[in-house]
Amino acid sequence: MNEEKSYIKVLLYIMLATLFILILSLWIGFSENITLVKISMLIFGSIFLFILISVLTIIILSKKLFQNNNLSNIQAKILYYSISFFYPLLIFTAKVTKVDKNKIRLMYTNINNLLIKTKNIKIKKENLLILLPHCIQNSKCQFKITNDINNCRKCGKCDVDEILRLKEKYDINVVVATGGTLARKWIMDVKPKAIVAVACERDLSSGISDMKGLPVLGVLNDRPNGPCIDTRVSIDKLEEAIKFFIGE
Ligand code: SF4
Repeated sequence: MNEEKSYIKVLLYIMLATLFILILSLWIGFSENITLVKISMLIFGSIFLFILISVLTIIILSKKLFQNNNLSNIQAKILYYSISFFYPLLIFTAKVTKVDKNKIRLMYTNINNLLIKTKNIKIKKENLLILLPHCIQNSKCQFKITNDINNCRKCGKCDVDEILRLKEKYDINVVVATGGTLARKWIMDVKPKAIVAVACERDLSSGISDMKGLPVLGVLNDRPNGPCIDTRVSIDKLEEAIKFFIGE
């Protein structure tokens, strides 16, 4: 099952569960004679009605975004805030219903990317930060690039070589982070106005949700050798994301 179907399936599970609780709470609320229980059930039902409407809105706007690659400004804002709010519930539901969580994480990144691309964001190249995971470096390489990516000798054994060529071509900031703490430190140091992040589904989705207010385009890495070792990235996709922000 592709990630779009898994994502819609999880949203439908949430809708069904919400609808069930809503009907149950309304039924108890209207059949109960004790006022306190009645009021509590009706408040409870209102909360689940809100969740039901929100999830339905997410489904409708997501479908529209996938089909047209475009949303109005207000629709983009509604989708962004509602999906950010309900994202933990989506992951929890995926876990309970045994849907691959990485597909939901990837959809979160894809929706974020599509929403970013509906905006006309153009920044100076010095305000762009490319954030790479440490696992993109060849695991046998002896040169330490986490402090300074320029320590790479461009031997061509990993994609850092090609990424350095992009860095020189566009004159942009490129850094390598071993984890969230170092990534946050780089962001504090460089103070970018936009980020292009390369990572796996989990790190991209958590990084994007951490960076509230800062536009982040996520580029999923390839893992031909399994997770976290000698990973690769599509240089074309990376360059496309760079060009989107700096407009070249
Ligand atoms: S391209 Fe750079 S980082 Fe990759 S193995 Fe060669 S020297 Fe090391």
